[in-house]
Amino acid sequence: MNELKNICVFCGSSEGNDLAIINAAKDLGIAFSDQNITLVYGAAKIGIMGILAQSVLDHHGEVIGIIPEFLKKKEVVHLGLSELITTKNMHERKLRMLEESDGFIALPGGMGTLEELFEMLTWLQLGLHQKPIALLNVNHFYDDLLQCLETMVRKGFLSMNNYNLLLVDSNIIQLLEKMKAFKPDDIPKWLKPERT
Ligand code: AMP
Repeated sequence: MNELKNICVFCGSSEGNDLAIINAAKDLGIAFSDQNITLVYGAAKIGIMGILAQSVLDHHGEVIGIIPEFLKKKEVVHLGLSELITTKNMHERKLRMLEESDGFIALPGGMGTLEELFEMLTWLQLGLHQKPIALLNVNHFYDDLLQCLETMVRKGFLSMNNYNLLLVDSNIIQLLEKMKAFKPDDIPKWLKPERT
């Protein structure tokens, strides 16, 4: 079983308009503090990002925010986090998110969320890391995206093996269990990095 001490969450910098998604962000924060999991995220106090971070903090959990210098504005950055890490740019931020985390979860969000999710997935697919990546499919939010991935498999652009690297569930506790049970052996052998 994987030990999940720190999990990085990608999610919307907007709140959206679905109460189920707002409640899921709050519930994820409670699950993290219950299971002693430190939240790693993009350090914003706005949108689903802010709701999630505040929920972890309100339940006495730990939160590490990682933000690039240019986004570190007073109206955006959450100043009450356990730790705030500033990076030179977006690329350095994502590398730091990878280094600080034992796994990744995407909650509903927009293009920024998708970009972060797919960069981590492609790095996993290429064998650059072996950490679990999961999608919390709140209220069918990601059904269309999953259907698009299935089309990629059907049309021969994505292998079933790599499709299965993305763990999916609508239930937080079950999603965390899937992440704990994820085996690096699921990554195609010829892509696995050499163990030192
Ligand atoms: P989006 O899904 O387009 O709202 O973008 C959210 C994702 O992109 C988050 O996971 C953040 O890491 C990053 N991001 C976008 N906007 C901001 C912001 N104003 N402050 C911090 N991070 C942001």
